[in-house]
Amino acid sequence: MTDKRIFLSLPQLSGEEQKYIQKALDDNWITSGGPNVNDFENDLQEFLQDDVSVAALNSGTSAIHLALILLGVKAEDEVICQSMTFSASANPILYQKAIPVFVDSEGETWNICPQNLEIAIKDRIAKGKKPKAIIAVHLYGMPYKVDEVHAVANKYEIPVIEDSAEALGSHYKGKKCGTFGTFGIFSFNGNKIITTSSGGALISHAKNLKEKAIFYATQSRDEAIHYQHSEIGYNYRMSNVCAGIGRGQMKILDANLKVKKQIHDFYVSVFKDIKGITVFENLNTDYDSNYWLTTILIEPGQNRNRTILLQAFEEKNIESRPLWKPMHLQPLFSQYPYYGSTVSENLFEKGLCLPSGTSLSSSEKARIKEVVNQLFQI
Ligand SMILES: *Cc1c(COP(=O)(O)O)cnc(C)c1O
Repeated sequence: MTDKRIFLSLPQLSGEEQKYIQKALDDNWITSGGPNVNDFENDLQEFLQDDVSVAALNSGTSAIHLALILLGVKAEDEVICQSMTFSASANPILYQKAIPVFVDSEGETWNICPQNLEIAIKDRIAKGKKPKAIIAVHLYGMPYKVDEVHAVANKYEIPVIEDSAEALGSHYKGKKCGTFGTFGIFSFNGNKIITTSSGGALISHAKNLKEKAIFYATQSRDEAIHYQHSEIGYNYRMSNVCAGIGRGQMKILDANLKVKKQIHDFYVSVFKDIKGITVFENLNTDYDSNYWLTTILIEPGQNRNRTILLQAFEEKNIESRPLWKPMHLQPLFSQYPYYGSTVSENLFEKGLCLPSGTSLSSSEKARIKEVVNQLFQI
């Protein structure tokens, strides 16, 4: 008999979700927007502090799309995007018929490289177009080099969209990720640190930007007693039922963040004596990753590489997965400009994401440890 599958990251419920969902049903308020949505926005606002405005939406992808729209990105405009990320960071650029310009990562946070970012900006300007926005990502919850990246962005006066889909609860120099950019975005998809089944949020620093985002997210209705529209609208608002799940999930956010760190510590101990394998960690005390997923790099050697370990886990019904495949290597995006070398490509070839769900039990940890110990004969 095979053991039960251990997944990368499963949602965990607090038990309080039902209460808020029931309230939505009792109130017969099951459309988009509503009391749970407002309260969930307030919960997030309180969590993030820094006086941000939060617009709850139906996905993180919608949040990125609306950020681009609010920044005035149009057809043929250029938008810089970190290459090493999930495709949802870059797809909204194409929704606007704009042109993605991809930039490599640095090897310390695995996120957008400030030097290559500046090279890219200078070259695009020299070629005749200043990029309209920069999409930087806190991959796997690890903050990008915020000071360096924003210094470059400020120098050329280009707004930053901070893709914090994976980084709720991460900090850089004590400040919460998602609050640094002109816009920040979060995802509450089922695999993220908390979930609303499907959902996202757009973070801004002005109430009028939040209101404008909600205007676009609810079909761009002009003020009139009939349906009147002068701009393209979208159906991107979060539903009151989903926000009910979100309200319940906020109750366990802090606890989840603690467990994610314990899971990371567990993997540090599992791999500490294994040559050629490094667990991805905070660069220094400026960085505080939420360790949404714990990831490792495997330097290929005798009987040791990414695929061997992945298959050994798979044989024991344990899910692991290569790191995100960089966008400039994806068939969809390969014809667009790319600046950098092979940092993200190397990460993709050597990296593996490990099971990091907050419900990971001690017996499941033991199964994981045993695979590693057997493979490396410890
Ligand atoms: C999950 C994710 C998104 C998209 O969020 P959805 O809510 O699934 O639309 C965007 N960027 C990154 C880096 C993600 O991991």
